[in-house]
Amino acid sequence: MGNVPTTVKHCLSHEQLARDYPWLKRWLVEEKSLGAHEYPEFVKIVEVGPRDGLQNEKEIVPTEVKVQLIDRLSDTGLSVIEATSFVSSKWVPQMADHTEVLQGIRKSPNVRYPVLTPNMHGFQNAVSLAAGATEVAVFGSASETFSRKNINCSIDESMLRFEEVLNAAKDQQIPVRGYVSCALGCPHEGPIDPSKVTEVAKRLYEMGCYEVSLGDTVGVGTPGSMAAMLRSVTREVPCRALAVHCHDTYGQALANILTALQMGVCVVDSAVAGLGGCPYAQGSSGNVSTEDVLYMLHGMGIQTGVDLSKMIAVGDFICHSLNRKTNSRVAQARGSQL
Ligand SMILES: [Zn+2]
Repeated sequence: MGNVPTTVKHCLSHEQLARDYPWLKRWLVEEKSLGAHEYPEFVKIVEVGPRDGLQNEKEIVPTEVKVQLIDRLSDTGLSVIEATSFVSSKWVPQMADHTEVLQGIRKSPNVRYPVLTPNMHGFQNAVSLAAGATEVAVFGSASETFSRKNINCSIDESMLRFEEVLNAAKDQQIPVRGYVSCALGCPHEGPIDPSKVTEVAKRLYEMGCYEVSLGDTVGVGTPGSMAAMLRSVTREVPCRALAVHCHDTYGQALANILTALQMGVCVVDSAVAGLGGCPYAQGSSGNVSTEDVLYMLHGMGIQTGVDLSKMIAVGDFICHSLNRKTNSRVAQARGSQL
């Protein structure tokens, strides 16, 4: 591939994926949703509230509340809701009821419910008859220290685990999403070199992840570091296979998302009411709130298929259940108008 221009190389590898795994086709973002050097017409929102949002809650959230949260989210027009995580309950007790949650939700035919599976054990439980997950995600890191502290293995070791999951998933025609955490900084190592993010994202993509979500886990990124990171990653992974996952610790999340959209990314992770924070990243505040992302996108004329008012109502529900204030500025503003 030495002399093939970068852009052509991208097309080849992406088409290759669709050719090799035809069943994966409907998960690949279509090219037409991307305009050259302009904002996408449609942005896919991946709602991560029930998993990323709740996993850091100190009090165990009742299964019934989680199920209701997901069911309510299913009625907002979302197409993807990350439902839970099949990690060891020893590490994340909040997600110990993963199977019950998947059994309890009303699965809408228009919504996909991926779950996190860090290794083969998690994968097998997730896709077991009892749980019945039909889409999974693996969670890697661009920071060596974060990887060791968060998933207890080196980046290389994690890639071997993921490869196993990916191979098993291919056999069962189960699509796999990949995460790269610490894409714009690490709580232990500080700034992360874009080449490191690129390397991990490329490995996940080449392994067969249909989408790779680049996570600013700590929320330290700015439009400057987001642009530099994406410039590097998009040399190796096509833009339409990328998502951004921003936390709002430093109040930069919407600006960072806007920067990513300008560079052709059209998949955004967010959490209703801005739930969350990373248990392993000191000082990390919640995910960018879905309500605020929707407000910005709709204001720009970008479609999402998601109803903002319904999303605000779901935010009210979960904040009421957790007895806390919403992190969504839009919900706060709308609330004060009542
Ligand atoms: Zn997150």
